[in-house]
Amino acid sequence: MTITSAPADEYLAHRTLYIGAEWVAPRGTGTIEVVSPNTGLPIGDVPDGTPADIDAAVAAARAAFDDPSGWSGLPASERAAALRRLADEFDARKDRIAALVSAQNGMPISVAGQLEAVYPPTLLRYYAELAEAQGPDVRDGMFGGTVEVQRSPLGVVGAIAPWNFPQTLASFKYAPALAAGCTLVLKPSPETVLDSYVLAEAAEAAGLPAGVINIVPGGREAGAHLVEHPGIDKVAFTGSTAAGRRIAETCGRLLRPVTLELGGKSATIVLDDAELDLASIGNELFVATLANNGQTCFLGTRVLAPRSRYDEVVDVLTAFAASMTIGDSLDPATQIGPMATAHHRDRVEGYIAQGRAEGGRITAGGGRPAGLDAGWYVQPTVFADVDNTATISREEIFGPVLSVIGYDTDADAVAIANDSEYGLGGTVWSADPERARSVASRVQTGTIGLSRYIPDPIAPFGGVKQSGMGRELGPEGLAAYQNLKSIYR
Ligand code: NAD
Repeated sequence: MTITSAPADEYLAHRTLYIGAEWVAPRGTGTIEVVSPNTGLPIGDVPDGTPADIDAAVAAARAAFDDPSGWSGLPASERAAALRRLADEFDARKDRIAALVSAQNGMPISVAGQLEAVYPPTLLRYYAELAEAQGPDVRDGMFGGTVEVQRSPLGVVGAIAPWNFPQTLASFKYAPALAAGCTLVLKPSPETVLDSYVLAEAAEAAGLPAGVINIVPGGREAGAHLVEHPGIDKVAFTGSTAAGRRIAETCGRLLRPVTLELGGKSATIVLDDAELDLASIGNELFVATLANNGQTCFLGTRVLAPRSRYDEVVDVLTAFAASMTIGDSLDPATQIGPMATAHHRDRVEGYIAQGRAEGGRITAGGGRPAGLDAGWYVQPTVFADVDNTATISREEIFGPVLSVIGYDTDADAVAIANDSEYGLGGTVWSADPERARSVASRVQTGTIGLSRYIPDPIAPFGGVKQSGMGRELGPEGLAAYQNLKSIYR
């Protein structure tokens, strides 16, 4: 099999930024070099956006928003038509986008094709329909008269995306924001910038008016400048809890609305009647625990196993982890690709060393896979004999590392699941859906699945505790970009 570590083996060099529907020269001279996690070799570079570039992008978004005959003033149906054109243009480029994401962050191409290529156009069409369907809202008043509740777009949005699902998580923001009539500046993460140029091309081909979407790749400094920019009305952030806390502080000081989708350390709760045959549960277990090389915020990396079946759960997970095909992310057979960066690989390995040092027993993986010396690979790793106080049970590793923690009763399982700073995702596995639902209802989390997990566009997605504030997706995701005004008649 031929494996190409950059799509079409091309080196991609971009020299401009997409601001105001034009390809403009950057204000600075720095560049972001993108390195393949499969090979460690450079595969492209783009301008490193500076605060001055953010200023230009915000000015373009501001001008577009403040023009009463522009985007924010259009009937919802016209904006919806533009979003559908953008969805079509995205679809026309979806294979390239999936390949670029995979080439940059190590996401297996099979995963990229099912998620990164699918969520954005799905959300664009969903929010186009939802915004179009919002009619007048007039309510009978309790003290006589009527009240008209008007929804207006919130303004200019600063959207900051992480590298793990760069396209999907950007679309969680721009699809509802644009449908609501907001305009937006998107700052992609430095690790995944090449795909953002294809999104800009799609926006240009769809004929989105000048300034409606502006894209400035950059690092923390550019991100922080965007968050506190006086021309911004709302911040939408997905990333680490540490960065989210800093952003929340800034937004608190400015009284600026903010949505924060942050880290996780969710629980995979296996009840004592659960089906454990990998032939039937393997695919769903993969999505719930290891998808995208463990670099997914909602994964249930703490596996809670009933003591009566503890050894069986460990054996199943050990076989599951050992069965994974590890390799170049662009190979369609790959299930586990490399970690996104060398630094991140080192971090994941540090956690594995710590798990060992704290007495955890490795039953699968624990090292680097043989024969894959060039990229930043880590074997899927299973730790048995750990409890919920271990560092690897408490901190987000963001790699393919699972801890199996024993429990006695369903109530214990719930207590252990809730004994975490985080509350984002998780799953409950049981042959009895009502029992699983009862356990799921008691877990402190923003989302949870019963024997499967997939964020559904129609339902709010987000976290509790240190996993974030606010919700994306669903009608709630649209409301997050709208001001409400009550007119008492
Ligand atoms: P990160 O916080 O390092 O970076 C995320 C983005 O924020 C990047 O674009 C980065 O340049 C920018 N940034 C960093 N510091 C900033 C600051 N002070 N001000 C403004 N912008 C700043 O996170 P990452 O390593 O790219 O992503 C991994 C993290 O994201 C994990 O913790 C993961 O759980 C989390 N995540 C959460 C969700 C969710 O929906 N809850 C989804 C995916 C990832």
